[in-house]
Amino acid sequence: MIEDIKDLKKQIGLKRAIHLAGNIGTETDDGYINVYVEADLELTNTGRCILVTGKVKGQTDSVCVRCLSDFKLNIECDINEHFYQTEEITDRSIKPAKDEDYFLYKGTRIDLTEALRQNILAAIPLKTICKPDCKGLCCSCGCNRNIQKCSCGESD
Ligand SMILES: [Zn+2]
Ligand SMILES: [Zn+2]
Repeated sequence: MIEDIKDLKKQIGLKRAIHLAGNIGTETDDGYINVYVEADLELTNTGRCILVTGKVKGQTDSVCVRCLSDFKLNIECDINEHFYQTEEITDRSIKPAKDEDYFLYKGTRIDLTEALRQNILAAIPLKTICKPDCKGLCCSCGCNRNIQKCSCGESD
């Protein structure tokens, strides 16, 4: 997901809206995750860096922690990231603030993949639930209570 920003670099204050879509795969502690990502972003030349803002939507295969069924998890997050040009930092013409988090790019090409990956992974909940009112599995007979109605819990 690489964007050429040659035109943006011509003048401070220039903006461009972009739409990105694609798969981002990541190796995590819980195994390999593949997320289909769609992003509507705005790139702004602030003079110091390229500011990337906008909305990111993702979809990935997940397993419900309550009923253990497979489902498509939808993820949404906002993105707000600063990209500094490596060359400008190296020759010290531009210096990011001390506590500022930022990404680097070389020349006029920005690779947005890593920024999207970090934001979308951070937006995946630790406990994924297939639907807010998932009834889960019955702790006595083990049936999926979204699909089946058992009589185990009738006494309480
Ligand atoms: Zn569930
Ligand atoms: Zn039961």
